[in-house]
Amino acid sequence: MTQVPIAEHVFTWPANEPQLIGSRCSECGIVTFPAQDSCPRCGSTEMAEHFLAPRGRLWAWTTQDFPPPSPPYAGASGREFVPFGVGYVDLGDVKVETRLTESDPANLRIGMSMELVVVPFRTDDEGNEVVTFAFRPVKDES
Ligand SMILES: [Zn+2]
Repeated sequence: MTQVPIAEHVFTWPANEPQLIGSRCSECGIVTFPAQDSCPRCGSTEMAEHFLAPRGRLWAWTTQDFPPPSPPYAGASGREFVPFGVGYVDLGDVKVETRLTESDPANLRIGMSMELVVVPFRTDDEGNEVVTFAFRPVKDES
């Protein structure tokens, strides 16, 4: 099965250690994700590609226990829907809104260490496996 990213220029793929692709303002240094053509802080259009850290800390989270409105949601619905976590992960220079692999509140806590993974999202009409990014709790951490 061919794996295709959910969107171009969101994360490096294929890759053994994928990274999110953001942008960094050459004028004021602010980092954005997703990448933007102009700086949200100073208006500069000197935005350079910036690879984000693959690990960070969970900053805020909740769980999605029912399918979001569709569109824009394009994932599994009805009986195929599986609850998932959503949240923000603080990567140091930017906070990223992301899907989480973990949806059990007992296994999530603010400040825990999280790492980037690329996970299957759905199968498209051509039979390709569409993959998206998510963050999962780092194992071996108490
Ligand atoms: Zn700027």
